[in-house]
Amino acid sequence: MEITRRDFIKSSFLLSGSLLISSVPLYAAQKKGQQWHPAYEKLESEGKLAERVEQAYAIFENCQLCPRQCGVNRQKGEKGFCRAPVKTVIFGAHPHFGEEMSLVGHHGSGTIFFSNCNLRCVFCQNWPISHEGRGKEVQDEDLADMMISLQKTGCHNINVVTPTHVMPNILNATRIALKKGLHIPLVYNTSGYERLEIVKLLDGIVDIYLPDMKYMDADQAERYSAGASDYPELAQKAIIEMNRQVGSHLTDKRGVALRGLMIRHLVMPNRVAGSEKFVRWVAEALPKSTYVNIMPQYRVEYKAFDYPKISRGITVQEFLEAMEWAEQYGLTNLDPHSVAVKNFYSQRLSG
Ligand code: SF4
Repeated sequence: MEITRRDFIKSSFLLSGSLLISSVPLYAAQKKGQQWHPAYEKLESEGKLAERVEQAYAIFENCQLCPRQCGVNRQKGEKGFCRAPVKTVIFGAHPHFGEEMSLVGHHGSGTIFFSNCNLRCVFCQNWPISHEGRGKEVQDEDLADMMISLQKTGCHNINVVTPTHVMPNILNATRIALKKGLHIPLVYNTSGYERLEIVKLLDGIVDIYLPDMKYMDADQAERYSAGASDYPELAQKAIIEMNRQVGSHLTDKRGVALRGLMIRHLVMPNRVAGSEKFVRWVAEALPKSTYVNIMPQYRVEYKAFDYPKISRGITVQEFLEAMEWAEQYGLTNLDPHSVAVKNFYSQRLSG
């Protein structure tokens, strides 16, 4: 039986369960009498968003969207390292309650999972989506409809997961959705493997950057992320630019995120992720108040079983030392959930 566009959008939503929450006014003004607007809305009002969409789409003809710089013509059906076609392939779209608390709020973060990936880590926790490209090809208009549906369910933001290789489609869809009433923040949830030039193109469009900082060492990046030895250097440059664009994590009165940079760092076994170097770099290169989420949820997935150093879960001690380094280097805005986990285990060990 053929699945229609409408069916697909509907079924993507049903993945998440109860979704018939009525739409509520989501955002209190930042200051009394001051209305909050998403970045992309301001850019459209200045008449600049259409031009950005055009610039982004032109890149597909000689794809340089990410540091792999394959140079393939995706408009003509050629595929590069990420294996992505020119249309987006979407695995699912639904309110997500496992993201950072300020993104989840009361009604969830409106996540859209894009298939394929430009980094392709051997320990990928979403490998059926990222490596095998499972999902359905959709038009930008469909993607825009998903954004609107997520907003209607009460989601506090549109959270595009693994967006780098489909950035032009996301920009186009955001503009289409804006004309249909989209007014919630756009969250750019990326592996961090980005080109500075491309991040600059997003200036004034993205409200919240949610990049990973996976490794600080070129050899580890090369070994575990398909030869991407330039990952640490490029991710650092990209994150500094993201911070320049959106600054510190800003929430409304209820603690729901509106804008800013939020960095994720997954602690890996045997100090593979370079956690001490990571927190030192944040302390030196960015404001100490930068939102940092040090995450303990590493799982042995996909091909990680074949790599001895990462073929086990992390220990409590490995997580605690990363959190302690963050405190020692003076980071003041650590993710509250990670802090709670740290406090729980610290008390347990001392008790
Ligand atoms: S987005 Fe894909 S095709 Fe384009 S440069 Fe990156 S890996 Fe290559």
